[in-house]
Amino acid sequence: MKHTNEMEIIFDSCSENEGFARVAVAAFLTQLNPTVEEVADVKTAVSEAVTNAVIHGYENEIHKINIHCKIEEKTITIEVTDQGVGIQNIQEAMTPMYTTKPQLDRSGMGFSFMEAFMDKLEVYSKPGKGTKVWMQKTIGKGREVWTTQSL
Ligand code: ATP
Ligand code: MG
Repeated sequence: MKHTNEMEIIFDSCSENEGFARVAVAAFLTQLNPTVEEVADVKTAVSEAVTNAVIHGYENEIHKINIHCKIEEKTITIEVTDQGVGIQNIQEAMTPMYTTKPQLDRSGMGFSFMEAFMDKLEVYSKPGKGTKVWMQKTIGKGREVWTTQSL
């Protein structure tokens, strides 16, 4: 059986918790010996997903956000879930520079960053029910050759 390691955190959707959430995931990720860049990538993706839950999902009302992380070999899977307003058209929402809050100086690049910094991104959402952002990244890609030679 494959060895897996999971953790889950639930926290209030206030902006003070955005920093907490990304540091908590980064701390959990440490066991995979990520590079500074890999940690920064995951932190950015988590930040974007949590910020979206705070400002779009819950429209700045305080409700719960859930982050579930699972490590399987060298891959981390992260799910950020809210029970907020949901997204009508997911494909449109994921288009670069699409935002429903241009008046708040939003650039509509959150999903694009998550896609760029993680290996895989999937978004599940139902209007009135909430949104789940599923993302995955394998740590150490491109460093396997060095590991083999060093044996
Ligand atoms: P930026 O992230 O650049 O500040 P943004 O948040 O508008 O701007 P994205 O993060 O790409 O851009 O999100 C695009 C759109 O998808 C948002 O404007 C919003 O309409 C919708 N959206 C994203 N996440 C959620 C969510 N958790 N709940 C409801 N709607 C969401
Ligand atoms: Mg965003």
